[in-house]
Amino acid sequence: MKRKVISAVLSTALAASLLVGCGGSAAPAPAPAPEAPAATEAAPAPEAPAATEAAPAATEAAPAADAAAAGGKVGVSMPTKDLQRWNQDGDNMQKELTAAGYEVDLQYANNDVQTQLSQVENMISSGCSVLVIAAIEGSSLGEALDMAKDANIPVIAYDRLLMDSDAVSYYATFDNYKVGTVQGTYVKEQLDLDNAAGPFNIEFTAGDPGDNNAGFFFNGAYDVLKEYIDSGKLVVQSGKTTFNDVATPEWKTETAQSEAENRISSFYTDKDIDVWLCSNDSTALGVENALAANYKGKYPIITGQDCDIENTKNMIAGKQSMSVFKDTRTLASQVVKMVGQILSGATVDVNDTETYNNNVITVPSYLCEPVFADVNNYKELLIDSGYYTEDQLK
Ligand code: BGC
Repeated sequence: MKRKVISAVLSTALAASLLVGCGGSAAPAPAPAPEAPAATEAAPAPEAPAATEAAPAATEAAPAADAAAAGGKVGVSMPTKDLQRWNQDGDNMQKELTAAGYEVDLQYANNDVQTQLSQVENMISSGCSVLVIAAIEGSSLGEALDMAKDANIPVIAYDRLLMDSDAVSYYATFDNYKVGTVQGTYVKEQLDLDNAAGPFNIEFTAGDPGDNNAGFFFNGAYDVLKEYIDSGKLVVQSGKTTFNDVATPEWKTETAQSEAENRISSFYTDKDIDVWLCSNDSTALGVENALAANYKGKYPIITGQDCDIENTKNMIAGKQSMSVFKDTRTLASQVVKMVGQILSGATVDVNDTETYNNNVITVPSYLCEPVFADVNNYKELLIDSGYYTEDQLK
């Protein structure tokens, strides 16, 4: 399987974003966040004195410097241990918060909304000064968020926006729409859609409808490819072209796999699939398994996101074309910095005050830069940076 080298334009843009990363000078003027003033009032942290004792490591966690002064207990609620990235997110948050002098209450909710709800409620009643929440389902934590608001506890939505609530102080994530445009642009350039005659067959697999990010990823990719679908240069043989048609509940690999198997046996027994646009790595893995199981045609371009270990191995083996790297260390550092700024009453760094409306308020956000990854740059991105060891990818 031979792929054309991605065009200079995309590479340059992506290289630039790699350099900028998160928390770089790309962040425009920090906007004072109107919804946030409660944050500073919320800081009476009974555990505060311990913070300075625990602070020696804080210099390593440079971005969190002002955090050490504030101290307190931070509740970190993660959706599940089932997917690799959330384990890394949780570990990084715990490491950085501890280094900055905080006590940390880290909980994983086993992808069960009720469990997450009660874990967050416990964090509130056990005296957390700030909550950092990566929701299983964005709109299901209303009760707990109301409790947090009543107790003047600021809430940071982590990676996924918390929906339908005015109790969300800040949001820190990667530029979710850009994740999709990076995937869509890759497909456009690989197939040379502006010049090639086509037509090419494409299928889409998107994420969990309860995750606000999933629509951004899908729309970002679709917006790049729409004109070619409209003109007939890209053909979706299954006819599944809307987010709802291709969503994958809970981002499950098995669900993506069985849906892909159905589409392969219904539409591609005598046709090639040129592209399978997957929003992330867990769904891409399902598609890759389905192709291995019952597809005989030319191997398609496959996109992903997260650079999970299994998918990175597949990139090296030529079974996945690209992924989008979102360095969870970078996001954790940014959130720890936010926690410190909130608790010390400093201005909180945000670089987007327009995009993320949760149906009640527009949440001041910090968007980190996602980075293109493929077999040509994974070593530099993932191994040289210490994200994985070479052995992990064998
Ligand atoms: C995250 C992705 C992840 C997906 C499944 C999304 O909210 O932004 O990085 O692949 O959830 O866990």
